[in-house]
Amino acid sequence: MENLRLNTQDYIALENQYNANNYKPLDVVLERGEGIWVWDVDGHKYLDFLSAYSAVNQGHRHPRLLAALIEQAQRLPLTSRAFRNDQLPHFAKELCELTGYEKVLPMNSGAEAVETALKLARKWGYTVKGVAANKAEIIACTGNFAGRTISIISFSDEPQYKDGFGPFTPGYKVVQYGDADALEAAITPHTVAFIVEPIQGEGGVIVPPQGYLKRVREICSENNVLLITDEIQSGLGRSGKLLAADWDDVRADIVTIGKALSGGFYPVSAVLADAAIMELFKPGDHGSTFGGNPLGAAVAREALAVLTDENLIENALEMGDYLMGRLRRIESSHIKEVRGRGLLIGVELHESAGGARRFCEALMQKGLLCKETHDHVIRFAPPLVITKADIDWALEQIAPVLLMD
Ligand SMILES: *Cc1c(COP(=O)(O)O)cnc(C)c1O
Repeated sequence: MENLRLNTQDYIALENQYNANNYKPLDVVLERGEGIWVWDVDGHKYLDFLSAYSAVNQGHRHPRLLAALIEQAQRLPLTSRAFRNDQLPHFAKELCELTGYEKVLPMNSGAEAVETALKLARKWGYTVKGVAANKAEIIACTGNFAGRTISIISFSDEPQYKDGFGPFTPGYKVVQYGDADALEAAITPHTVAFIVEPIQGEGGVIVPPQGYLKRVREICSENNVLLITDEIQSGLGRSGKLLAADWDDVRADIVTIGKALSGGFYPVSAVLADAAIMELFKPGDHGSTFGGNPLGAAVAREALAVLTDENLIENALEMGDYLMGRLRRIESSHIKEVRGRGLLIGVELHESAGGARRFCEALMQKGLLCKETHDHVIRFAPPLVITKADIDWALEQIAPVLLMD
């Protein structure tokens, strides 16, 4: 393989020449990472305040995850589910014990986990609830993000996610996020599930009103509708609790997790449910060549162990409170609101600030990497291993940027 030493501009030109143009990344080309830090090809060091959209909650290149990956890769990376392997049973048991669910269905990407949850809910609707064939409805929320497959974008209300990609999968309705009455009004005898992010990440770090999720849980139970929580971004410690729904003491019927499930080493996602629901899947109903593979399972086991052994959930809570408190003290006329939970924090800017992108670019110049979500929100989501001293350093970079004209 040719691997010439190129500089940032060379890599950008090369990428632009040969890659599909479906992202608009910051112009930083990274080549190395360690904990909360990453380095670019020109030798600049940055604090990663995005964590690959919460996939590297455990920090970059965690030594325990690296060791687990290498050890398993040297033994057996892939079996397919045509055969069994010696990692998947442990992975499922450990994940069930951690989360309190009875069953796991392993997949790879987050979108696949969501698709799996939707299929499971439909199957439940037909076989348990007794919905007439092909009539099942699933309700989702405004501002949702659950991935990019055709069925998932079918319930998106973001025009760009859909424009040019129809026809869409039928059977979805969208109600206002944070409005439990709207959910109640939308339910029909055909409704099988309500899918909701306990905190909307891509939607702009939106924390719903106090009591919303609890009321949603009651409405779903009263109407025999499954509650699906999409915790792919908010889960696994990011919000300062294991699952963000724990903030409201709510237990969903089906949970999707991904991203940090493998600490960023390898795509691993999963659907959690109790046996009564998960057992509706029979052999042949659903599957994935790579889902549940021993390499992913071994890395995910270690990623979960690191979360617990290093008290990363507690650290997210403590550091998140500290960071949010300090951000709220920055007296910038650009800031409309600082919100979030744990280390999932959004700084919403007034429209007059001219968009969040230029602030992210200015922060990059100061050695802090973060990304705008939608036009006016800067998302701050560092790895959960971050310390107070590192946050203090970050704030020294952030404050002047938020105070610029
Ligand atoms: C990122 C994300 C997904 C999709 O995960 P992919 O691995 O990108 O397919 C789904 N739901 C939520 C809430 C997410 O943040």
